[in-house]
Amino acid sequence: MGAPIGIAGAGLSGLVAATRLHEAGHGVVVWETRNRVGGRTWSPPLGPDSLQLDLGAAWHWTEHTRVHDLAEQLGIERIRQHEPGIALYEPRAEQPVQHFPWPDTPPPSWRLEGGTQTLAQHLAAALPSDAVKLNHRVTQVQQTDAGVQVHVDGPNGAAVATARRLIVAVPPRLVAHTIRFDPALPDSLASAQRNTPTWMAASGKAVATFADAFWHQQGIDGRVVSHAGPVAHWHDAVASDGRAALAGFLHPTGLQTLATEGKAALHKAIRTQLAHCFGSDAPAPTAIATSSWRTDPATTPPDADPLYVEHPPTPPSVITRPHWNGHLLWASAETATEHPGYLDGAIEAGERTAQQVFEASPKAASTR
Ligand SMILES: Cc1cc2nc3c(=O)[nH]c(=O)nc-3n(C[C@H](O)[C@H](O)[C@H](O)COP(=O)(O)OP(=O)(O)OC[C@H]3O[C@@H](n4cnc5c(N)ncnc54)[C@H](O)[C@@H]3O)c2cc1C
Repeated sequence: MGAPIGIAGAGLSGLVAATRLHEAGHGVVVWETRNRVGGRTWSPPLGPDSLQLDLGAAWHWTEHTRVHDLAEQLGIERIRQHEPGIALYEPRAEQPVQHFPWPDTPPPSWRLEGGTQTLAQHLAAALPSDAVKLNHRVTQVQQTDAGVQVHVDGPNGAAVATARRLIVAVPPRLVAHTIRFDPALPDSLASAQRNTPTWMAASGKAVATFADAFWHQQGIDGRVVSHAGPVAHWHDAVASDGRAALAGFLHPTGLQTLATEGKAALHKAIRTQLAHCFGSDAPAPTAIATSSWRTDPATTPPDADPLYVEHPPTPPSVITRPHWNGHLLWASAETATEHPGYLDGAIEAGERTAQQVFEASPKAASTR
């Protein structure tokens, strides 16, 4: 077999690219710096019932048809987000919580049973057993006549691998700050990568499990909007079999507590907030977990603040087209044109890079 196609990053975009290439008969190797697949999808089990809750991406909407189609293809059940009903508003920690009706007008959204990380886990499980190399960080890429040389730091030290092509499925801003290219990338590309915000990299999440969804018995839908923090808004995250949970986004005060006082202090503040919102008689959470993506070096460059954006921008074409005569290609949700930054965009980017490889080398089977 000739040299494989290399992929840096086993997030959703990298694994979609790897899957499509493998299905077409190409050899693939995926280097992933973390000790797990999924990247910004992360759904570790929590609490006595081992409920898998999303500490990264959670939802998709009607127009995100690629997520719908991939979940269906992989046999993953979708759960309609439970929203309409009575919501809570917490103006300040020392003021009473208010009840208000939440209108059933926003477009419907869905979660995935088992969390969004199951997409990546299913895709990785269907690849050859040695295709995904966890704990392997791509540090440098060199152009050669036949393809690329990929420098990788792994558990056994640094090594250099040969690949026919390399798909970089790492957020562009992280690429610009952490991977070296020889020859250097054109200024227009490097600067576009540096200036492309990694969507949601400035955020953090909190999830909490409960013995039961007591808020439903109180006529509350699980949504809490808070100006006090440490969680800015909570949402219902009950599984389809009834295992009870809430999930939310950290308020700046929560991120501040995490940065200055640590996880134990943040989790204590979350318990206090939940008791304030639902009443001191309400059942306490059975477990809490939190995430901060701005301090995660596999999402946010350690030496650069995440760029905050309300909505991810459409990328310039320089960060989506192949370079080095088609040997260097760019995945990552941020390079998608239809829903950049989203799960749907990650799938689009993975499929686009696989297509770019097919167009450059249509006879896949003969290259194995
Ligand atoms: C808190 C949060 C909430 C979100 N909510 C939603 C939501 O509700 N709906 C939605 O559609 N999207 C949401 N998103 C965005 C969604 O998670 C992303 O669009 C998607 O997961 C991106 O996939 P990706 O493969 O492009 O990138 P990533 O998931 O970032 O994957 C990149 C991979 O590359 C690895 N890597 C990095 N550097 C290297 C290196 N040098 N060598 C090897 N590997 C490397 C990383 O570890 C990672 O696994 C959210 C994101 C966050 C953080």
